[in-house]
Amino acid sequence: MNLWQNYLRPKTLAEAMDAFSSAPRPLAPIAGGTDLLIDLEQGRHSPIHTLVDVTEIEELLAIEIRDDHLFIGAGVPVNRIVLNPLVGAHAQALVEACELIGGPQVRNVATLGGNVAHALPAADGTIALLALDAEAEIASTVGTRRIPFPELFVGPGKSSLKHGEELLVGFYIPIQKTLRDSQSRKVSSCFKRIMRPQGVALPVINVTVWLEREKDLIENIRIAVGPGAATPWRARDAEQVMIGKSVNEEIVETALEILLAHAGFRSSARRASADYRRHLVESLFKDTLQTAWLRAS
Ligand SMILES: Cc1cc2nc3c(=O)[nH]c(=O)nc-3n(C[C@H](O)[C@H](O)[C@H](O)COP(=O)(O)OP(=O)(O)OC[C@H]3O[C@@H](n4cnc5c(N)ncnc54)[C@H](O)[C@@H]3O)c2cc1C
Repeated sequence: MNLWQNYLRPKTLAEAMDAFSSAPRPLAPIAGGTDLLIDLEQGRHSPIHTLVDVTEIEELLAIEIRDDHLFIGAGVPVNRIVLNPLVGAHAQALVEACELIGGPQVRNVATLGGNVAHALPAADGTIALLALDAEAEIASTVGTRRIPFPELFVGPGKSSLKHGEELLVGFYIPIQKTLRDSQSRKVSSCFKRIMRPQGVALPVINVTVWLEREKDLIENIRIAVGPGAATPWRARDAEQVMIGKSVNEEIVETALEILLAHAGFRSSARRASADYRRHLVESLFKDTLQTAWLRAS
């Protein structure tokens, strides 16, 4: 049995939106297909009549600086993100996340947009984008709009995108702080994860830390942990106690205690128990924080 009847390859956003308004339904965008095709084959996704391939839409393929932001198109395969010097310079955590997704074959086709649209709370690219304070650009037949990244997620595997009506165009990562670095103010980020053997899929647990350091003080910090809740999760209360402080044992232990008090770790049949995740996050958080702190020195 065919998994779909109609496969469209628009080259521009306008062509994609034409397809969205006129092609037979049910309709869904497809990028690398590394999540969607498996879900269709294994019956976890309801049947689709029209697939709209987003990997040749020019507006979704750019990686470039736009004003105070680094823009990364939703249709960019993650291996291109890993190799791109702009991403390396402004969003190191995203490079580190993308280079751990699957194996080389998966990374050649899997896109950042697909990683985010699938809306899993521990997806590696998603957790990095959350700590990097990204905004998402969304297109529909009535135009495009930008929303804060957390607004994309409503539950495990459920995004706020209107199915068959809205498309992720790309992500805007703020970089102005990096560009106006003074001698003493530095911005850095770091992503680390604990996983079963490489290439098997989602991590047991991952952490991203973004921070702004002014001499020996944390000016600002963002901490994202996956899976820390039903949707991609930021440890906002732990962040608050660290702002204005130096990274020392006492403040790290306090932040960790708060993080553990607010995180909603759950047990998953294939990956890890909630208790094991609570145990692992202690060393992973400290390690990721320490690397980001030293990078900003
Ligand atoms: C062997 C294997 C290993 C993996 N390892 C990892 C891993 O280590 N870490 C990890 O995070 N993930 C992993 N994954 C999951 C998957 O590869 C990633 O989530 C990938 O980034 C999905 O992107 P895609 O382009 O293949 O998405 P697709 O499968 O094409 O699409 C996924 C979903 O997003 C929607 N979609 C795609 N593009 C858009 C768009 N532009 N706008 C709106 N909706 C869109 C689709 O309709 C679909 O619902 C793995 C998968 C496999 C098969």
